[in-house]
Amino acid sequence: MDLGVFVRDIPDFPKPGVVFKDVTPMLKDPDAFRECILQMSSLVEGLDFDTIVAPEARGFIFAAPIAFHTRKALVPVRKPGKLPYETLEIDYELEYGKATLQMHIDAIHKGAKVLIVDDILATGGTMKAIAEMIEKCGGEVISILCLAELNFLRPREKLARYDVRTLISY
Ligand code: IMP
Repeated sequence: MDLGVFVRDIPDFPKPGVVFKDVTPMLKDPDAFRECILQMSSLVEGLDFDTIVAPEARGFIFAAPIAFHTRKALVPVRKPGKLPYETLEIDYELEYGKATLQMHIDAIHKGAKVLIVDDILATGGTMKAIAEMIEKCGGEVISILCLAELNFLRPREKLARYDVRTLISY
């Protein structure tokens, strides 16, 4: 099944000049979404990881069923003020401005083997920040898995140290 047809372009969102990749048509199609989760899971089959880390909000949508299917632990990464326990945080640069993400301090144990999952890999800044937060905790980033990557933004240059796997390339 060609999953690319279930991701649509939304011009000028969230701001003029940006073409947003919208995955909601795929979520709405039960066969396509199921196929997507199975194909993403297959992409990391055989890799030695025990934990999946994913950022809100769309990362959760893909990471949770992959964690269920592959029987791995699931760790949410969130915007400030959302997690109830003690957190550690990382600040990172966006295309315009800055952002902060948080994770529970006990979410990643030393030696954890981690797969990071998200929907769209754009500049790679979000994945790089999360990878560094995992490494600060003593975890090892085994791979980064996304549904699609925006090649023209060259995310792989920022993530040269990491194994990066995606189903769709734009
Ligand atoms: P990056 O940090 O520039 O790689 O941006 C990746 C983050 O922004 C991910 O969490 C994505 O969910 C979100 N994102 C960036 N561009 C898009 C898009 O076109 N569609 C959906 N999400 C996007």
